[in-house]
Amino acid sequence: MATVKKDIRALTKEQLRDFFAKQGDKAFRGNQVYEWLWQKAAYSFDDMTNLSKETRQMLDDRFVINNIEVSTMQRSNDGTIKNAVRLHDGLIVESVLIPTPTRTTACVSSQVGCSLDCKFCATARLKRMRNLNPDEIYDQVVAIDKESKLYFNRPLSNIVFMGMGEPLMNYNNVIKAIDKITSPEGLGMSPKRITVSTSGVPKMIKKMTDDDVKFNLAVSLHSAIDEVRTSIMPFNETFPLEDLKEALEYWYAKTKRKISYEYVVWKGINDTQKDIDAFVKFCKYVPCKVNIIEYNPIDDGQFQQASNAALEQYIETLEKNRIVVNVRHSRGKDIDAACGQLANKS
Ligand code: SF4
Repeated sequence: MATVKKDIRALTKEQLRDFFAKQGDKAFRGNQVYEWLWQKAAYSFDDMTNLSKETRQMLDDRFVINNIEVSTMQRSNDGTIKNAVRLHDGLIVESVLIPTPTRTTACVSSQVGCSLDCKFCATARLKRMRNLNPDEIYDQVVAIDKESKLYFNRPLSNIVFMGMGEPLMNYNNVIKAIDKITSPEGLGMSPKRITVSTSGVPKMIKKMTDDDVKFNLAVSLHSAIDEVRTSIMPFNETFPLEDLKEALEYWYAKTKRKISYEYVVWKGINDTQKDIDAFVKFCKYVPCKVNIIEYNPIDDGQFQQASNAALEQYIETLEKNRIVVNVRHSRGKDIDAACGQLANKS
């Protein structure tokens, strides 16, 4: 019977050192392999050129490197790049590189499909197939970092967890991936340049706070009125705004880091003065900034971008209340790479 090869990236550095020591080799080899796997993102044992041919063969006989593969890459007219990423079991997720004159941001996925069912989101239609493991999240970032260097002559500068999936429903793996991304033995990125965007899972926001995470928090709010929010984000029934508010207060009290609210204004859904007033009230609970995001229709026309007048009214009222507000025009719309459009169509 053929032996099943182990995923070498599931081993810690200590375990790799032990492995080599037990082979009668130098434990230091474990450090070298670890460096190849993480810092140098090697996808083949043959790339590990400071190991002997015999050692590389021995590793190849016992282990696999379950790396991802960018199966298709699309480039938008505005420079945005969307990767369809094939996982070792054949499933596909998408990640996006968003360039601006001063930064390159990676928008990465945390699940195949999604556990939640936001009515306006293309990913929700895929349902959740499985969580991504930490390496699969890390590899999406590495792939985008390479593309950033290749096409824009600079490394990746920021990461947002706003791709497919609800990151807080795959919390442990997201945290492990971020640990690796921020570790000097991984990509060495500052956690201040990473934002985890959630639709608002109160108990997990509290857990993140207790875990003393150093990255930023964004919440896709879209309405501060329970009935409206539940109609577009049905899980709001289980996690109502009052619980979310309490969790966000807990976060701010301990971290002193502002929250970003992501907010889309849709015609006939959340475009009245009552919606605006409720949102402004919610924004006052904890220090925050607001990103109003341009909506990208996902074909069926049920959700439509609100009028400019409604958007102006939101912006004016927020600013009058001294709340910082940015309007984000979507990028990569021509390749379905914009927010809410990721659905493995490529
Ligand atoms: S918006 Fe985010 S949380 Fe909601 S279904 Fe889409 S991917 Fe999931």
